[in-house]
Amino acid sequence: MFYLDPHIHMVSRITDDYVRMARAGCVAVSEPAFWAGFDRGSAEAFRDYFRQLTDFEPKRAAQFGIHHMCWLCINAKEAENVSLSREVIAAIPEFLDRPGVLGIGEIGLNKNTKNEVTIFEEQVELAMRTDELILVHTPHLQDKYKGTRMIIDILTGDPRIKPERVLIDHVEEHTIGPALDAGFWVGMTLYPTTKCTPARAVDMIDRFGTERIMANSAGDWGPSNPMALPDFIRTLSSRGYANAEIHKIVYENPIRFMRQSKRFNFEGPIPVA
Ligand SMILES: [Zn+2]
Repeated sequence: MFYLDPHIHMVSRITDDYVRMARAGCVAVSEPAFWAGFDRGSAEAFRDYFRQLTDFEPKRAAQFGIHHMCWLCINAKEAENVSLSREVIAAIPEFLDRPGVLGIGEIGLNKNTKNEVTIFEEQVELAMRTDELILVHTPHLQDKYKGTRMIIDILTGDPRIKPERVLIDHVEEHTIGPALDAGFWVGMTLYPTTKCTPARAVDMIDRFGTERIMANSAGDWGPSNPMALPDFIRTLSSRGYANAEIHKIVYENPIRFMRQSKRFNFEGPIPVA
């Protein structure tokens, strides 16, 4: 079965991961801009990161038959530094016309601070001005419910925002309902330590269905598993889901969301209805 991992930080992964993912059926990935495990010291460091995301990483992925697309932003963790964030936001439009850049993301909240909210709103403003899709990171563990609620309130309070052009990521059992009810797309992040296991993700599919929902591995610099989606596919299968339903969740749904971007450039191996 072909699949697309819509949220994976390949800059933190080794080339062998691309090999394993390709063998397991991965044909495309989308990589949001995020924290790299350390705070960067200048806007120039982000320019280099954006070059890596838009130039180097697509070439590395292509060697293994995997199509690579990305998202640009300053992440919620480094957004605590407001002046640096504003320099980065000013630099983003230099890279927005590059092929395969899907929009602004992953923006959001980390510890739900005032500075994070300020920079989140300024990046929503950038997305509105440039007519881009938005990918949202929601906080971890004890900060998740409140942070997700704050994000949904900010986004639904802005009449310019079309919810079908926003993906709320890292949803869990207590945040998926409000995000879907408001009309957003949702992403379930399969993670070995926090967030969600494949079994819990299938439970959420049982409860909430297969519309506007997708799953990802978020493979990054910390403990994470770039093979989480093949595990999820096996779990769905063992729980009785038909191949067509699984294909919808791990392939067609992310494509339906992403192809709203003017620079979506994945020519899939299977036509999407
Ligand atoms: Zn991420």
